[in-house]
Amino acid sequence: MDIVTLECPNCGGKVVREKNEYFATCPYCGVEVCFDEIKGEAAKGQIDELKDSVERYRQQEEFVDAGRRNLKRWNMWRSIFYAGITFLVFLGFMFVGAATDPDPAHDTLVGIGSVIMIVAIMIFFSGPVYLGLSYPDYDIVYGKRGVTDKIMMRLKLAAICLGCAVLGAFAAYIVLRFFGRA
Ligand SMILES: [Zn+2]
Repeated sequence: MDIVTLECPNCGGKVVREKNEYFATCPYCGVEVCFDEIKGEAAKGQIDELKDSVERYRQQEEFVDAGRRNLKRWNMWRSIFYAGITFLVFLGFMFVGAATDPDPAHDTLVGIGSVIMIVAIMIFFSGPVYLGLSYPDYDIVYGKRGVTDKIMMRLKLAAICLGCAVLGAFAAYIVLRFFGRA
């Protein structure tokens, strides 16, 4: 909405604006007039630009916040997964291990223990895959991760997962060995 002509405030004559000029001299009375509103328009454009960059910055911040939240949630699920595997393997071994005597009443225990172990094995194999796939693509700590990083992360997940299973089994063994059978 560029103003191209103005009424001279002194004589009322028509003052034509030169391109990109904010001031002009009235051709009738010689008074200098100012295209204030044009300046206003220009300033408004700058303010809009500023608003745009603020908005872009805000979106970027939101993006970073969302990444941070995703990573936090992912870390929480990973911890739950590790704890779950450890506990399930422990429980499975406890049930199976507690029934080493040739007692028919212990068949139920072995059955329960076996089911728990099957669930544990299923989680054991699916967990690292799922966690690997659901890892937030945007990582605020390490930046965007490459393929090698992702493979390493999955291997690490699988290794820790195996460690958790061994820990669960070992804990069950310790409990049974020292507190279980009389
Ligand atoms: Zn004039």
